[in-house]
Amino acid sequence: MDELHETLRKYYGYSSFRPGQERLIRAILTGNDVLGVMPTGAGKSLCYQIPALLLSGLTIVISPLISLMEDQVTALKKRGIPAAFVHAAMPGAERRALFMRILEAQRTGRRNSVRLLYVSPERLMTREFLSFSENASISLLAVDEAHCVVSWGRDFRPAYRKIGEFADLLKRRPPIAAFTASATPEARAEIITFLHLKDPESLTTGFDRPNLFFEVRHTEDKWAELLRVLSGHKRGSGVIYCLTRKTTEALAKKLNINGFPSAFYHGGLEPGVRAKNQEDWIRGRVRLIVATCAFGMGIDKPDVRFVIHYNMPGSMENYYQEAGRAGRDGKPGDCILLGSARDVTINRFFIRKAGSGWTGEDLPHAEGPMTRHGERSSAPGPVSGAQSPSQDALRRILRQDLLVMQDYVSCHTCLRAFMLRYFGEEAPPFCGKCSVCLSDTGPLPRGSTLIPGVESEELYKELRSLRLDLANRQGKLPYEIFSDRTLHDLAAVRPESLKEMALVEGSGLINVLKYGSVFLAEIRNWVDTH
Ligand code: ADP
Ligand code: MG
Repeated sequence: MDELHETLRKYYGYSSFRPGQERLIRAILTGNDVLGVMPTGAGKSLCYQIPALLLSGLTIVISPLISLMEDQVTALKKRGIPAAFVHAAMPGAERRALFMRILEAQRTGRRNSVRLLYVSPERLMTREFLSFSENASISLLAVDEAHCVVSWGRDFRPAYRKIGEFADLLKRRPPIAAFTASATPEARAEIITFLHLKDPESLTTGFDRPNLFFEVRHTEDKWAELLRVLSGHKRGSGVIYCLTRKTTEALAKKLNINGFPSAFYHGGLEPGVRAKNQEDWIRGRVRLIVATCAFGMGIDKPDVRFVIHYNMPGSMENYYQEAGRAGRDGKPGDCILLGSARDVTINRFFIRKAGSGWTGEDLPHAEGPMTRHGERSSAPGPVSGAQSPSQDALRRILRQDLLVMQDYVSCHTCLRAFMLRYFGEEAPPFCGKCSVCLSDTGPLPRGSTLIPGVESEELYKELRSLRLDLANRQGKLPYEIFSDRTLHDLAAVRPESLKEMALVEGSGLINVLKYGSVFLAEIRNWVDTH
């Protein structure tokens, strides 16, 4: 697996980049200036943090607010990435000690010292900071909230206009990477001018793919459902994503027997076989390719007409990226997810294995989230000595990802809106081009009556938000109160007393006694109003 994905997995626990991230990161790494315009929540920070991990020198991040710097530095340290920030309230001695520490580490070639240093724009041009910068090796200048340079903007900060000058004062001008969520062309032009960006790689992401149709189908008979889908897609190339290697092979075989010429693809195949199967599909010798998530990286086949998920993937990032391989040519593409309860079980299994050094090889047919970029744990990280996130932290992230997918699959509001909002974009409540919007009932307004069976999912969500409140108030982590699984069972069983509640697997007597009554009240209230 390439270095970028390796780093993403190791420090962040994410398995894929979000739209635009990889391109910006690569541009930075080749020494280009960049301007990334991405909506809030799209993941701009990662675009300079990953280069900071991979470049040899220090990355200076210019950020307008102490609170932002503090949040980021805390988050980075949690991920095992050494980072620091300097601010006005910091005693001079402490500041100087920090600078000394960085310079000393650079001199002795230690890489486990501060990789990212956050500063306010005002600090850059102070004599102290200039003399530090003259002596330091600086590989990248990242400018967060770059719209602060825009004179007519609400957030204008004159000191942002000195950043370009600061860069020019350095021994070697490092690349400047500017990020903002302000998308107007005027703002972009001002940013380029006043930050002195040189021929920057500019990228503006919006997440919507208007030519794609999204659908979720619930079924316990995937094969029958797949045949139904295929009978509606008699033309064009398609990808069928599965969660395990074994499924890809078995399914391709069955499809071939039933008159649907198909190739299969997964990470366990000999490179030669893999390349040949992929080639067969790209050249159109077969119309279908049945694959695990290992498939798709770097494949740019424009005329894919449909992407079918035979299993529910483990995260929205994965889903959107995989589904997004349909319709690259701008013509219609269908993205159909076949979901079943068992998919949740398979994903949970992957999560239990995650971070345990398991690469999928001892489990020959699985392609869990950890196998995608396999082999990662033994490779020396770019920051030796820094800790990568713990297994528990990683599993927590993966569990959250899975919950989002479960929510998506059981969603009764516009599917496109669900996804766009997840990625931080605004979206109207009705797209008219997804299975929910086109259903007889259309998207359900919040709080309307749901069909039975989905109800426990709804109650589960209520219980989850109750648990989150409770956890926040008690300074605990949600799962320390009740696990997701227990909440699911509580939502399905709906106990009426503490005694009944204690019978639910995993609830734990102590926690039932501590928190049970709050949950009972919520369940009772919910039952009464539904
Ligand atoms: P922005 O600065 O664009 O508003 P952030 O950099 O704060 O966004 O990122 C928003 C959230 O998205 C963070 O929680 C971050 O960890 C998460 N994120 C970023 N990139 C990815 C990715 N590739 N996969 C999953 N989550 C991501
Ligand atoms: Mg940000």
